[in-house]
Amino acid sequence: MAQQPQRSLLNTLFLWGTLVLALILVPLKLARQGLSWSEAGMFGLMYVLIGLSITVGYHRLFSHRAYRAAWQLRLAFLVFGAAAFENSALWWSSDHRQHHRFVDDPKGDPYAISKGFWYAHWVWVMEGVVRPLEAVEDLQKDPLVRWQHRYHFWIGAAVALIPVYVGIATGNIWGHAVIGLLLRIVVTHHSTFLINSAAHRWGSQPYSDANSSRDNALLAPLTFGEGYHNFHHKWQWDYRNSARWYQWDPGKWLITLFAWTGLARDLRRVPETQIHHARLDMEAKRLTAVLATAPVLQEGLRDRLGLAKARIEEALGAFQSRREAWEALRAEWTAKGQARGSAWQALRDQWKSEQSRCRQELRAAWADWKAAKGQVLALDCV
Ligand SMILES: [Zn+2]
Ligand SMILES: [Zn+2]
Repeated sequence: MAQQPQRSLLNTLFLWGTLVLALILVPLKLARQGLSWSEAGMFGLMYVLIGLSITVGYHRLFSHRAYRAAWQLRLAFLVFGAAAFENSALWWSSDHRQHHRFVDDPKGDPYAISKGFWYAHWVWVMEGVVRPLEAVEDLQKDPLVRWQHRYHFWIGAAVALIPVYVGIATGNIWGHAVIGLLLRIVVTHHSTFLINSAAHRWGSQPYSDANSSRDNALLAPLTFGEGYHNFHHKWQWDYRNSARWYQWDPGKWLITLFAWTGLARDLRRVPETQIHHARLDMEAKRLTAVLATAPVLQEGLRDRLGLAKARIEEALGAFQSRREAWEALRAEWTAKGQARGSAWQALRDQWKSEQSRCRQELRAAWADWKAAKGQVLALDCV
């Protein structure tokens, strides 16, 4: 149970102080001295290292256990994540798990968008409600997490000051402090905050409208892929925040890279067919609503949509059952030590060509659906 709100003077001063100072000092510094390669480089490096530690570490690893990571990686996330000045990984994960559990509920969700855009963005931080740690017993078993929880401010300060150390070494403390420290803190803060505010207010809902989360491609570059928030709320335990290859999600690419190097394992991902089903159900729901408000009864169009939907569902069923049969066969052959040689290769080739046929049918079924959808949407424009 949350305690009564109490204004946190420290949080308020820190958030407003860094923002106001940055708004005054950054233009002043740029006007007087311009921007050196070293200052820009330190800003970029710190922003990337700290932002990725929040996205790939605090969020996908610690809050959601979307994969498992070696201690070296966990340590790096905890050390650089502390420099985001967004509290310890333990507090962050506790709040975030409550956010997912009670999303949009003004009582349970620590940064519920139902309490307003600015509340979800940063007022909740300034309000400084002291919540007990909840549902993080798994994380409390990790000695590295416990260590960071005790010393996160000092670890964060030591790391955040790296640009200043470079400034001391190069004789340009002021420029590195303003750009690499002050500006970096403000940009890191507000890019994270935008996921709690903007990604619950603006964007599309391709997978679910059960809560306010939105996919917002504009936020993805700022947050290393966290902008696809509707996908994330639907499958929070998936190590990806987007399933499509072209969607900007460096977080998922980095985790894949870590898996190749052995630093990460047990990557969790939702089956592809479930993503298709969710998209289809959401589109069907919207189109049914359009048909229901059409001035003339559209029986023919309703039937066409129904047939197109059934075709996709059938294609997905065939795709899934073939995949499951293949997984079972592969497990059986691997257990017997026979998953190699020409007989195995022939079996693989046969499965690949079957899968390719299934994909073609799925694509054709979606094209059929899109044509029917176009007709329904045209009705809406009349
Ligand atoms: Zn959210
Ligand atoms: Zn999350």
